[in-house]
Amino acid sequence: MAKLKCSKLQQGSFLEIAAAHARQSETESGIPAGAVLVKNGEVIASSHDRSQQLNDPVAAAEMDCIRRAGRRSDQAELVLYTTRYPDMLVAGTILQFAIGALVIGLPETSNQAIHLLKIKNIPITFLPTDQCMALGAQTINQADQKFLKQAYLEALAGYEEGGIPVGAVMVQDGEVIARGRNKRVQQGDPIIHGETDCLRNAGIIANYSDIDLYTTLSPCMMCAGAIMHFGINRVVVGEDQNFPGNIAFLRDNGVEVVLADDQKCKALMSKFIEQRHDLWFEDIAGNEEV
Ligand SMILES: [Zn+2]
Repeated sequence: MAKLKCSKLQQGSFLEIAAAHARQSETESGIPAGAVLVKNGEVIASSHDRSQQLNDPVAAAEMDCIRRAGRRSDQAELVLYTTRYPDMLVAGTILQFAIGALVIGLPETSNQAIHLLKIKNIPITFLPTDQCMALGAQTINQADQKFLKQAYLEALAGYEEGGIPVGAVMVQDGEVIARGRNKRVQQGDPIIHGETDCLRNAGIIANYSDIDLYTTLSPCMMCAGAIMHFGINRVVVGEDQNFPGNIAFLRDNGVEVVLADDQKCKALMSKFIEQRHDLWFEDIAGNEEV
């Protein structure tokens, strides 16, 4: 059996190397992601993301590591350390090369790629470190970051109006086609959540299949139902820490959900819940789980 286990201290030191790579990429205006490939406690290869620098969509940090490790047949003994949550490109590569295990320097979460790796029995360890967490806000691509920020600005406007700070935008062909925010307080209307306000502002659309929905918070059951009802195929969620919502439900029903784990979305929502727990409790109908 491959020696996949290292002490937490050792694992932390590999994640530190990966984080240093990520910061290097940042200084090159690249995506701040780094990875390290380890065998029996020894670093085999380390790298940072170069996709932006090289205009190469497959130059992800994790893939560059595997490339640097060269042709070999001992992949099952290798452990990949990374500063970010895997996407499907990385998950597919891990499976293709039968990498033995994955260690992620961020808190436990689930996305499509993690789900796939778990189904295929790849051991995943979540070991949040301060350095990786500091990079963690940028685990999504630049286009998604840009549109999620628009949803965040809606949430912020709602907060400044004294409302519940959840915002959403709908995007088609790289353009924002509608915006919305929770207006429960502002309009005294319980069904105006960020997502439903956005859907309403977009008007009637015959086909939603090429429209992406961005929302600052994991959708409640009403909004998840609306996403299914209208046939939206892709949803980018700011965070699910303040409210777990229904990401698993959406994924189980074929919706692609990208979880950004965005620090700003988290901070705004947690500030609001602390200040106005009564309003928040009312909005989620007393149900803090879904
Ligand atoms: Zn909702």
